[in-house]
Parts: sequence; C-alpha cells; structure tokens
Amino acid sequence: MFPSDPDVLVIGAGCAGIAAARELATRGRSCIVLEGGTRVGGRAYTESASLGVPIDHGASWLHQADDNPLTPLARALGVTLIDHDAVRDRRLFAHGRYATSEERRAFAAAEDNFWTTIEAAAADGRPDRPASEAAPRDGPWDATVAHWEGAQICAAELSHMSLHDFAATALDGPNLVTRDGIGGLASRLAEGLPIRLAARVDRIQWGARGVTATGAFGTVTAKAAIVTVSTGVLAAGGITFDPPLPADTQAAIHALPLGLLTKIAFRADHPDAPDLPPFASLRRAVERAADRPMAWISRLFGDPTLIAFCGGARAWEIAGDPARAEAEARAEATAIFGARAAAALGRPTVTQWAEDPLFRGAYSHAVPGAQAARQTLAQPLAGGRLCFAGEACHPRFAATVAGAWLSGIAAARQGGAIQARAPTGPRAVATMTGVMA
Ligand SMILES: Cc1cc2nc3c(=O)[nH]c(=O)nc-3n(C[C@H](O)[C@H](O)[C@H](O)COP(=O)(O)OP(=O)(O)OC[C@H]3O[C@@H](n4cnc5c(N)ncnc54)[C@H](O)[C@@H]3O)c2cc1C
Repeated sequence: MFPSDPDVLVIGAGCAGIAAARELATRGRSCIVLEGGTRVGGRAYTESASLGVPIDHGASWLHQADDNPLTPLARALGVTLIDHDAVRDRRLFAHGRYATSEERRAFAAAEDNFWTTIEAAAADGRPDRPASEAAPRDGPWDATVAHWEGAQICAAELSHMSLHDFAATALDGPNLVTRDGIGGLASRLAEGLPIRLAARVDRIQWGARGVTATGAFGTVTAKAAIVTVSTGVLAAGGITFDPPLPADTQAAIHALPLGLLTKIAFRADHPDAPDLPPFASLRRAVERAADRPMAWISRLFGDPTLIAFCGGARAWEIAGDPARAEAEARAEATAIFGARAAAALGRPTVTQWAEDPLFRGAYSHAVPGAQAARQTLAQPLAGGRLCFAGEACHPRFAATVAGAWLSGIAAARQGGAIQARAPTGPRAVATMTGVMA
C-alpha cells in the first residue's frame, strides 16, 4: 500500500493532509501520509462511543458553505447536509430570562454595528492593532457581541487578535451540519489514501536534495515534505527541524497561536432535562465585568444532547480538568434552566484539544501586528522541498476545515511539482547547509 520511494511525505492526516494526498494522487505523484495519532481527520473528529450518538469534538459546521471546498465533496459522496441557520431557533438569555423580541432586535443591530465598525477600521489605512481597540464598546449589547465574536467563535479574546487578520478571516453562512459529523466526512474523504497511522514524526531533515522524516516508526525519505501539524505543535517544538527553520517562518508560527474552544457534551434524555427544541442555539448575555458565558446547542438531528461551548481564556483555565469543566457547565445550565434541569443532564464528554500533544489547542488566530503571518508560513522553503499547510496557512478561511483543505491543495501543487533538481533563489540557498543538501 505504501510506495517505497515516495515523491512527497505528508505529515498529518487532518483535512490539510487528506487534501494534499488527494491532490498529489490526481497529479500522479506518490506520497505517504505519516499520522501521529491512531485515526484520521485530526481536528475533524466525530465519535459515537461516548454518548451513543455522533459528537463532533472539533469541527461541526461547514461555514460559508457556498464557497467551502468540502460542500461539493460532501454532496458528491451523498452526505446529507442541513442548513443549521434555516432550522435553528436562536435564543438569547439575558437578565435572568429569555430576551424579548425587542432585545433580540437590539442585539442583532449591535452585531451589525460591530461588523460595520470592524470592517471600516480594518480599511482605514492605520497600522494593525488588537481587534478589541476597534470594536464598539459603549452599547448595552457590545460586551456580549465582543465575547461571542472573540472567545466563543474565534476561541480567543479580541484583545489577543490582529484586527486585520480578524476582518480578513471573518466568515458568513450558510453553516451546514451533517448527520455523521465533519469527522465522518473527513474519514470518508481519506479512504484509499496511503496513510500510515501511529507514525509520529519527531524530526525532519530538509534541504536542497530532499527530506527525511524520523520517528519511532523509522525513517522515510522523499523529494519533498508537506507539514500540516498545528501551529500549537510546531510552537511547542513537537517536530525538530534540521537545519532549523528560517527566522521568519519561526516568527510566523509563534504569531499564529491556537486559541481554545472546549465542548462539554451532555446526554439530555431525562424527562427533567432542559427542553430546548432540536437544532436550537442559546447564548447568554454578558451581565457584568469578567462574565464569560458559555453557549449551547441542543438536540442536533433530534439526538438527546445538549452541548456547552466554552471558548478563549476560560477554556484554557478549565483545560486538563474535566470535572471542573462539567461543574462550570452545570452551573451555567442551572442559571438558565434551573437546578432540577441541570441535575438531570447525564455525565458529559469533555473535549481535550489543549491537553493532546498532537494538537495543543483548537484553531489559530494572528496576534496583533501579525496580519501577514499566514502568508509567511505558507511560503515554500528550499524551492518547495519543505512546505507548511493547515488551517493556519490560509489567509481567508483560516481556523476552518475549508482553510485546511485549500492550503493542503496549494502545498501539494508546490511540493508535488518538485523534481530531482536543486532549488534556486535566496530562500533555497539559505538551506543549502542542511544535512540533505
Ligand atoms: C472545538 C473545535 C471546533 C471547531 N469548529 C469548527 C467548525 O465548526 N467548522 C470548521 O470549519 N472548523 C472548525 N474547527 C477547526 C477545524 O477543525 C480545523 O481548522 C481543521 O480541522 C484543521 O485541520 P488541519 O489539517 O490544518 O490540522 P489538524 O486537523 O490538526 O491535522 C494535523 C494532523 O497532524 C497530526 N500530527 C500532529 N503532530 C504530528 C507529528 N509529530 N507527526 C505526525 N502527525 C502529527 C495530528 O494528529 C493531526 O491529525 C474547530 C476546531 C475545534 C478544535
């Protein structure tokens, strides 16, 4: 199944790695995908074992579905896609009760004003700055909108994010969900690819004549490598590069840290459990300084589940402590649904993205001033012998499966074009001292 002398090594079998391997196959290039974990899909991971129904630990939605490369692929596989926005009952909880329709209209107007203000600020010609500096602050709903758009959606507070990158990577609907989850879709898209599981790469030697990846699995050599592991893994030194990566690549990795989004997924089939309709989503308003509400999604596809979403700094604070995550989610549920309903929720599954050394967080954001970091990281090294791909590398669909997929294809076009020839150009010359040179 595995070619003995592959043209390209792909490191990681998440969406970027799967897309790269598929693209290499269509271009007639041989490859091996080396995946450190025991499953494919990476941060697109759906399992049914823990609660008896499919739970997306990572990605759940195909955002901006009309431009999303995974939408037509899913349709071609016959996967049923549901427009979540068309079926969901959106609820807002404020002042200890559900918001009135007038309050909901005011909240929607605050969201519109937020985006108008952010887009104008990003286009005003001034240098990059934290997105929080541009966000409206004085209206009664502004703190709730900022919390929602920052910590809950981008997995990091607006104060930690580049205004320009935040505006450039903002997404729209439609937001599609699938019965078997995005992990289920990723697994189907990976079928038949030459993926070697439990092959964690510890070291990559790279240079003008090729690449060698080494780990407990052994050593594999190829003409080029496409590295798709998260920037969290790269920043933590999960792979040693020999020679070390250029300074601007290293700076880009550190300027694209992963935020954190933790899901606390409860079974909700007890008669006393909160009685939200299928597909409903619920946000609680920020009521005071330092209030960081979780958000909820209920009964996707009619399944008896209620899932709390906790993003940003609060998610990092509860990381590694599932009992605390459960307690905090139950306290949130108590505040909204009452103690009896909260107590009726079953034992939850708590996602573990921060703790897992193969990920070290959820998805990337650019820090203030680093609006060009994604393009820098996506720059091929050694004339295309070493390419980075993954969600962090995509300047438009960053942080999503769409960005991961598109960046994997782009890297495959660069790495897959490599023949047995020396690269040219200043970045290539800088690598000529490498072991493989
Ligand atoms: C909680 C959460 C919710 C999300 N929600 C959405 C959503 O609704 N919609 C959306 O579009 N996106 C969402 N995302 C983001 C989306 O899941 C990611 O952007 C995307 O899956 C990243 O794909 P990737 O291929 O870039 O990286 P990954 O999926 O991280 O793939 C990299 C692979 O490399 C492997 N690896 C790591 N280290 C090594 C090593 N040393 N050697 C070999 N292999 C290694 C990993 O095991 C992994 O399989 C969410 C993510 C999370 C965590």
